[in-house]
Amino acid sequence: MKKTIRDLVALLPFSHTVHNAQDRLDEVIDHVTIDSRTAREGSLFVPLPGANVDGHEFVAPSFDKGVTASFWKKGTDGMPSNGVIIEVEDPEIALQQLSKAYRDSLTLKVVAITGSNGKTTTKDMIASVLGVKAKVQKTKGNYNNHLGVPLTLLDLEEDTDISIVEMGMSARGEIRFLTKLARPDFAVVTNIGESHMQELGSRHGISEAKLEIAEGLDTSGTLFLCGDEPLLTRHMDDPREYAVKTFGRKTENDLHSSAEEMTTTGTSFQVNGYESRFHMPVLGQHNVSNALAAISIAKELGYEESEIQGGLAAIELTPMRMQLVNGKRGVTILNDAYNASATSMKAAIEFLAAFPLEDGRKIVVLADALELGDQEKELHLDVGRSIPMDEVDVVVTFGELGGWIAKGAAEQAAERVHHFEDKKAAQAFLEETVTAGDFLLIKGSRGMKVEETIQFLL
Ligand code: ATP
Ligand code: MG
Repeated sequence: MKKTIRDLVALLPFSHTVHNAQDRLDEVIDHVTIDSRTAREGSLFVPLPGANVDGHEFVAPSFDKGVTASFWKKGTDGMPSNGVIIEVEDPEIALQQLSKAYRDSLTLKVVAITGSNGKTTTKDMIASVLGVKAKVQKTKGNYNNHLGVPLTLLDLEEDTDISIVEMGMSARGEIRFLTKLARPDFAVVTNIGESHMQELGSRHGISEAKLEIAEGLDTSGTLFLCGDEPLLTRHMDDPREYAVKTFGRKTENDLHSSAEEMTTTGTSFQVNGYESRFHMPVLGQHNVSNALAAISIAKELGYEESEIQGGLAAIELTPMRMQLVNGKRGVTILNDAYNASATSMKAAIEFLAAFPLEDGRKIVVLADALELGDQEKELHLDVGRSIPMDEVDVVVTFGELGGWIAKGAAEQAAERVHHFEDKKAAQAFLEETVTAGDFLLIKGSRGMKVEETIQFLL
């Protein structure tokens, strides 16, 4: 956004008092932030209570470095006089309400995405496809919560055509809240998984929470559901005001894929109603489903087949999600390093094992999957045992828990399993070992920074 302080204040749909603004109302705000470290001239700083310090402590120092304006919670002591203060009941609620008012002032289209997995990936795919002929802005990184969504909306520029907003949740009511801020024209639910089972009781509970996304649609809106998940389609026949469309692998979906083919350069597939095969530089069956969500929306917006082709071919995912990268010496790396649990490790290994590779070896490089609780050793051992050593040529592990994976894999083929205490030693081994044509899967928890190993191989 880009607004003078005067115009921004006029947008505020709640009671507030402006301080120290005498001759400064024409100064421009083009950035809203909750992090004083990123605040600069042109910023509106939103001070929030932190775990250790209150954001209000950073307001006066921010003004010293040129920050244009700041919210201030009514009743907080020590209001500074060295910058423009907008005093509000609650800065967090003010941020959210301001984002809604700003979104409402724009005429662009909004696409909202939720689901247990695949939100960021689908967001990137939709942005790539719609971006071939529209000005698109999307959630940065993973800013998908009660603060990230408002910041995403406030970041929108006035000439943007389409905004793509990721929405995450861990409890009932959260998606409802976010979708009412963003008021999407199109809403997507990618899938239903098992995360947040504890808070929501069951997969059924999770699906109810995700489907709240439709509550932000108006009568001209469309809800796009992965129709392969029965929990998502069970409300299809309920009375409602918006349209519903489905995508997925099953032929009863409005848009469905078939004849998928994976190579080291990506995936190609057929979609009903389209002549040519679609290609994208991304792997994994689940990503075909995510791509179908993107094609569904493009179709709804009247994109031509060739435009969709171009958008899919140009997909660049937020790094580290089933991404194919060309490494040094002609090796191919499957980068799914974003995070890891025992389940996602097994899924990625299964994918690698099934992958049709002509020459070269399949090498799995695994490090600890953290935060698995007191079952962690057994779970890692189990990952090791699950590696199909007749399909996988070499297993390399590092880290303490990685050692348990190695133990499990070694029960089958000890001579092809190599464990190292630390990452550096594992990398030195890979440096000696990898040759042209090898296909590597590298995975571990965020905390293990396995992307460093990928970097090393580039
Ligand atoms: P987060 O909740 O962390 O924001 P997200 O929903 O944004 O996650 P992504 O970051 O896109 O999800 O993908 C994370 C992982 O989920 C991928 O690496 C992949 O293994 C898996 N995944 C992606 N799409 C799907 C899907 N449609 N169904 C099942 N699993 C998927
Ligand atoms: Mg995400």
